[in-house]
Amino acid sequence: RAKEAGRNRVGHFDSDLESQAQQRLSIDRAVLGRAPQEAIEILLQPQLPIKAAQARPRFEVLARWRTEDGRLLMPNDFIPAAERNGVIGAVTSAVVCQAIRQLGRWLDIQGCEAQLAINVSAADLESHDFPQRLLKQLHAADIPPDLVEIEITESLLLRMTTSVKAALCRLSHAGIWLSLDDFGTGFSSLAYLRELPIATLKIDRDFIRGLESPNDYNLVAGMIAMAHAIGKEVIAEGVETPRQLELLAEIGCDWGQGYLWSRPIPPEQAFAKFG
Ligand code: C2E
Ligand code: MG
Ligand code: MG
Ligand code: MG
Repeated sequence: RAKEAGRNRVGHFDSDLESQAQQRLSIDRAVLGRAPQEAIEILLQPQLPIKAAQARPRFEVLARWRTEDGRLLMPNDFIPAAERNGVIGAVTSAVVCQAIRQLGRWLDIQGCEAQLAINVSAADLESHDFPQRLLKQLHAADIPPDLVEIEITESLLLRMTTSVKAALCRLSHAGIWLSLDDFGTGFSSLAYLRELPIATLKIDRDFIRGLESPNDYNLVAGMIAMAHAIGKEVIAEGVETPRQLELLAEIGCDWGQGYLWSRPIPPEQAFAKFG
């Protein structure tokens, strides 16, 4: 319950409808009242090799919205607000912009190739020039596309159209990695695994939480075996305990991400600690 309060900092304590509507309005106002380029801050959460051969440092980019009066909004609140107010495209470009800047800094200063995974919304991929804009930005900053990974969700797969599919293929063809986020929580992704150039499955935290029960253990072991059989690697999300890590190593999970190693932290710290 305390955890939930932390995650839904806004809109949790008052649960009656009227105040929910008020919260929503206040988030809408915050999101419309400030340019995303100014409001967005990025945090990075490291992804650590479990069974994977040690490769380049790898992080997920997690966005935060700084309001004019200094409060910090969490993505579960402001991303839906950005989506319903038609500004998600600008939010995503602000995130992309900062991620690219960070990759550039590391390359310049430390000569280090790190890989950053960026979350995108369905609307991003539905806008016809998303791949083109992203690739142009990378080219302009002289960043190799294979330092960038795009995370899509299973719910996005439900909105899969030929143009979304074409966008994903275009990104992959240009060298950008694709991963499927929150794997196992959505609906009918198996058919899409055959068709889409997805390199990585991220097993949702819900399954990792239950890993010590035989049922979830077997389920996760099965997901990993299935992923490996079709040539995909696996990241476990939300790894919090040494015991979970031990079990994930036992069933051959490639990568882990979670509070066991680090919460999402500012980019400078991320590199100093995990670069
Ligand atoms: P996600 O992509 O599944 O990201 C993982 C979320 O789980 C993050 O929450 C992260 O802080 C949290 N997490 C990581 N490790 C642990 C752990 O060990 N225990 C627990 N309890 N939680 C852990 P966050 O940052 O609040 O992000 C929530 C969701 O918001 C993300 O879920 C992602 O779907 C979305 N999101 C974040 N940034 C962006 C963005 O730039 N664009 C879009 N479209 N969505 C974003
Ligand atoms: Mg993600
Ligand atoms: Mg996830
Ligand atoms: Mg998740």
